[in-house]
Amino acid sequence: MILVSSCLAGYEVRYNGTHSLNNKIKKLVEENKAVAICPELAGGFSTPREPAEIIGGDGDDVLDGKAKVVEKSGKDVTEFYIKGAYATLEKAITIKATTVILKENSPSCGSSMIYNGEFKGIKNAGNGVTSALLK
Ligand code: SF4
Repeated sequence: MILVSSCLAGYEVRYNGTHSLNNKIKKLVEENKAVAICPELAGGFSTPREPAEIIGGDGDDVLDGKAKVVEKSGKDVTEFYIKGAYATLEKAITIKATTVILKENSPSCGSSMIYNGEFKGIKNAGNGVTSALLK
């Protein structure tokens, strides 16, 4: 079984109410070969929501308590991102996922690049919180 980011399957769950549809991933879900999850919704957020970025490191640092996830207006939402990451791990275990496909650049789902915490569209190498936990 494959676990995928909900927005890649076409669900409008991104912070701004849009999706990041990839037709191949949508087909996998329709054929019951993949299960979709949005870690941020699983963490307690709704759509739309404020954009958030990791400040002081990446998802591994968040899990180690050395960095935090902050919304653009300054609210610390770290605990919700960690909650969503653990909910996603639980789902991966439940469905016996052998492959995980996550949306790049997200503070949750990014698995090689994330935004740098300045809300200026600048990316750094690093994992989102969920990707860090799943890895
Ligand atoms: S948390 Fe992941 S699944 Fe949810 S909208 Fe962001 S990138 Fe997509």
